[in-house]
Amino acid sequence: MGIAPELKKIAVITSGGDAPGMNAVVRAVVRTALARGAEIIGFEHGFRGLIGDEFVELSSKSVGGILSQGGTLLHTARSPEFRSAEGRNQAHDNLVEHGIEGLVVIGGDGSLSGAKRLSDEFRVPVMGIPGSIDNDISGTDFSVGFDTAVNTAVEAIDKIRDTAYSHERVFVIEVMGRNNGFIAVDVALACGAEACLIPEIPYRLEEVCENLRNMRKRGKRSSIIVVAEGAARAADVQEYIAKHTGFEARYTVLGHMQRGGRPSSFDRVLALRLGAMASERLLSGFSGEMVGVLGGNLVAHPLSYVLGTERTIDPDKLHLVDVMAQ
Ligand code: ADP
Repeated sequence: MGIAPELKKIAVITSGGDAPGMNAVVRAVVRTALARGAEIIGFEHGFRGLIGDEFVELSSKSVGGILSQGGTLLHTARSPEFRSAEGRNQAHDNLVEHGIEGLVVIGGDGSLSGAKRLSDEFRVPVMGIPGSIDNDISGTDFSVGFDTAVNTAVEAIDKIRDTAYSHERVFVIEVMGRNNGFIAVDVALACGAEACLIPEIPYRLEEVCENLRNMRKRGKRSSIIVVAEGAARAADVQEYIAKHTGFEARYTVLGHMQRGGRPSSFDRVLALRLGAMASERLLSGFSGEMVGVLGGNLVAHPLSYVLGTERTIDPDKLHLVDVMAQ
């Protein structure tokens, strides 16, 4: 980190799991760089394209019309080759060949780890931007895509609630989030779920069944149970509940629909602010950082801090699901 001469040519990639709003970040990174008088190119398919030299020229026009589109126009991928020294050497050679002086990486913690290695091993100036529906990245209250993914799941569950009510059924709904429950807890709160199971906090299915029985006695006609994919399989939870309560139960796995769709206005504004800041800082000579937002304010942290700190779930938020289900 530190002030260095201003960079004249940078590149941008989207990497790892895709997230709605990545396009909005690319647009912000590109237009900020152009406004500063720098050149910018993109590489497709994240680190894979960096190794394979899959570059694309980027202009203000080429990022026009993508603000509201889900997915990423630069495509994304996982790149096992980049985990090897040989792969990273090739990637670095390509950056040198193009005269690239700095790289913006948009992705999850894996992608940020890759960016840090480029910076550590080759002194390539890098700037990371948190783009992940999982929201499991430290140093930022939100990563780009989380808000949209939560909204998408809530919209689907609101519909499921209607049919659950009509048939007086228990619905177990599995949401994404890899090995954490950030999506699950927010979704559960926003759709008024009767229970939420996440990997970070132990749960007992017998207790869930007991609560369901009590709710039924109180006259609750339908129940929604949100399960984080890292906590259990929805099918197993549904089977257990049906067997131990005798209630009619169904399950739904929302799956990859949570990754797509038009980014929410929250994600668009977040993407714009983070993209512009990352581009500015990289061009000004800062490196080895991730930009984020904490308490509404933009921040920049060393990647070593971000990657060395675990983002933890707020147990009070999970407790609120139970309180609201009373
Ligand atoms: P995400 O960025 O969504 O967390 P991954 O964990 O799959 O997704 O990481 C995306 C890519 O980042 C990997 O396919 C790999 O190319 C690169 N990467 C992840 N971790 C490392 C690492 N420790 N060293 C080098 N590259 C890494």
